Amino acid sequence: DLHREKAQKGMNEIFLTELKKLAPRLTERQLEQCAAYYKALIRTNGQLNLTAITEPAPAAQKHFADSLAAADVLPPRAHVLDVGSGGGFPGVPLKIARPDVKMTLLDSVGKKTDAVRAMAASVGVDVVCVSGRAEELARAQGRGQFDAVVSRAVAALPMLMELCVPFLRVGGIFCAYKQKDAEDIAHAENARQTLHLAEKDRVEYGKNVVLVYEKTHKTPPEFPRRFAKIKKSPL
Ligand code: SAM
Repeated sequence: DLHREKAQKGMNEIFLTELKKLAPRLTERQLEQCAAYYKALIRTNGQLNLTAITEPAPAAQKHFADSLAAADVLPPRAHVLDVGSGGGFPGVPLKIARPDVKMTLLDSVGKKTDAVRAMAASVGVDVVCVSGRAEELARAQGRGQFDAVVSRAVAALPMLMELCVPFLRVGGIFCAYKQKDAEDIAHAENARQTLHLAEKDRVEYGKNVVLVYEKTHKTPPEFPRRFAKIKKSPL
């Protein structure tokens, strides 16, 4: 009805104003694509719990602007994998900002990847959505296939490295979205060495950081281990 339409229009405007402020380099078209995806996300969130952040300004900040933190570190035309993409973050905003990359989103929950596939298609964002467990696909057809892997809010860094790094080709980059003061960062040194990662860059923004690593050698064949094992004895 009219009331709802008006409220939605207001949310859209708040979202756009906020995102424009936080991501001034997005074009009008990219801003509109983000707003359209936000709208689809809110609509779908009714049936499926994709996010707790639904208000327009926090969504612009914590989902969209936050996701864009790695936009400049992805190599040109890279094949990128988002591990544990949930409602589509950071993969969907990154694809909007960097249409040159090929973006694949992976989540173990099929209902989520189905929803993200439909939402992205409805706003004209070209991403591939795959449902499956990272530790299984990284031992099979996904192994060594990607130039970059990104991941946000999925696991502590040592576990996350084991889930993500096997997907990379040698020379590929791993981008972990973290809070600067996250405790797990200090405990990832053994995982970093075992999985042959070199620290390459860090993108700091507010309280958060994208840690960027380069894979320098092939992943030893025993990794990733089974999930129970990764969890019980993280590297
Ligand atoms: N990355 C999104 C974000 O930042 O909004 C979602 C974060 S959500 C807290 C974590 C997601 O990772 C969930 O959707 C979950 O299904 C997925 N996930 C956890 N472990 C996984 C695994 N081993 N393989 C694939 N997906 C996994």
